[in-house]
Amino acid sequence: MAEYSAFALLRNALSGNKDWKPAWRKPEPKASYDVIVIGGGGHGLSTAYYLAKEHGITNVAVLEKGWLGSGNVGRNTTAVRSNYLLPPNTRFYEHSMKLWENLSHDLNYNVMFSQRGCLNLAHSPAQLDDYARRGNSMRHQGVDAELMTPAEIKRLMPMIDVSDTARFPVYGGLMQPRAGTARHDAVAWGYARGADRRGVDIVENCEVTGFIRDGDKIVGVSTSRGEIRAKKVAVAVAGSTGRVMQLAGIDRLPIESHVLQAFVSESLKPVLDTVVTFGMGHFYISQSDKGGLVYGGDIDGYNSYAQRGNLPIVEDVMAEMLALFPSLASVRMLRSWGGVCDMSMDGSPIITKGPLPGMYLNCGWCYGGFKATPASGFCFAHTIARDEPHDLNAAFTLDRFHRGILIDEKGQGATPRLH
Ligand SMILES: Cc1cc2nc3c(=O)[nH]c(=O)nc-3n(C[C@H](O)[C@H](O)[C@H](O)COP(=O)(O)OP(=O)(O)OC[C@H]3O[C@@H](n4cnc5c(N)ncnc54)[C@H](O)[C@@H]3O)c2cc1C
Repeated sequence: MAEYSAFALLRNALSGNKDWKPAWRKPEPKASYDVIVIGGGGHGLSTAYYLAKEHGITNVAVLEKGWLGSGNVGRNTTAVRSNYLLPPNTRFYEHSMKLWENLSHDLNYNVMFSQRGCLNLAHSPAQLDDYARRGNSMRHQGVDAELMTPAEIKRLMPMIDVSDTARFPVYGGLMQPRAGTARHDAVAWGYARGADRRGVDIVENCEVTGFIRDGDKIVGVSTSRGEIRAKKVAVAVAGSTGRVMQLAGIDRLPIESHVLQAFVSESLKPVLDTVVTFGMGHFYISQSDKGGLVYGGDIDGYNSYAQRGNLPIVEDVMAEMLALFPSLASVRMLRSWGGVCDMSMDGSPIITKGPLPGMYLNCGWCYGGFKATPASGFCFAHTIARDEPHDLNAAFTLDRFHRGILIDEKGQGATPRLH
């Protein structure tokens, strides 16, 4: 498969762009593989990529029930950051950040990673103290973090009101300068192309409908395109985790599926050069390269597998946006959509061997699995290839919920909407 380069762009431009090859093949599924990865989202595709790249395991199939990018990987608000408090999260997400920083080169695919920073706004002195604590913890662990004053925030973001008369006065903020955004579809396509080039079969329109067992052991899957055997079966289906694991007879998981909505406005001239989160509610916003404001808020208040959301959340999100930026009142919303998020009970992910022999599980990404895509695939591939976790995902076990060793980043308890 051809390398993408400036020279290739020029050559194809001169020949009418007729010679571009498809970025990945459309293979028929084989009867058996070394590894099957269920789910062609960001995490499934990156897992397949790192299995091939880091461990030389190329006899791999990624089975996707729809088309690549149809799940959350193509529905998120694209924020990438590693501004966590607790060491297991900080280490894991910082590793992801380092992989993001070289991802376009690694994949030979421009994922449009833009390190424009991520700013958490503080609206009370206590909240600013809390952010200072998190910033110190990040710096102790070698992650970039800066506390900003209201005046510095005003310089960065002229449209914000930092006066005492603002509805929610701004006391300062915690900035991670290396955070930012990436083009989410490009991440799926880049990993797909990278895995395909190393021999991985990416099989779209192939829904897993059951698991094949030999005694307790999982030895393959039944799909809408027939039975496929494998030595190892890895599940990376995000919001569908409960449903897919039920096919294997696992009825209870510390996961709830909820819809998270996202919104994009009409295109504006550049007004916002960073990712911003509102500290008095749950609202986050950035501006896409096309000019649209991309924003979101809370998950819907009830469990659901529908990929569309409800109107009360739309009203909440708009109210929060206007509380923060009254000047956006006349901007028109262009589109909204929803994705099904796998909310874990402590807000941290699960990347583990099991829970059945021959099976591996990757889930619990809550609001923030897009930024984890590189490290998740890297660690899950390690776990599958070596049958033991990488140091970076050793804490993200399933049995931590039995043993009480939770990684509750925000100290919120088992309340998914608060993570
Ligand atoms: C609106 C929204 C905004 C978000 N914003 C952010 C953000 O700003 N930053 C951030 O870090 N994270 C964000 N997230 C979270 C992030 O998108 C997810 O955590 C992450 O994408 C989940 O992993 P994935 O990409 O593998 O999931 P998905 O893309 O959902 O992949 C799972 C795949 O499994 C497939 N599948 C399901 N069942 C089967 C089956 N039976 N057989 C075969 N295939 C199956 C699905 O079709 C799907 O393609 C957001 C999520 C949403 C919904």
